[in-house]
Amino acid sequence: MNVGAVVPHEPSAVLLDPAPLSAAQRAGHACAVCEKRWPRPTVRLGDLPDGAPVLACADCAEPPH
Ligand SMILES: [Zn+2]
Repeated sequence: MNVGAVVPHEPSAVLLDPAPLSAAQRAGHACAVCEKRWPRPTVRLGDLPDGAPVLACADCAEPPH
């Protein structure tokens, strides 16, 4: 590992299973929890195995305690 290198992904990103997600959810267009498309989901829950981010709306995301 390159210690100190800048990586594009946050180290805390969680790998998520894409199987239960719709195409819109996998593409980050819909909340991964409630499937709402508006307001757009902005909170990153984690990543899919292919590196795409999985997003949720602020109402569904856990507060960062
Ligand atoms: Zn939601």
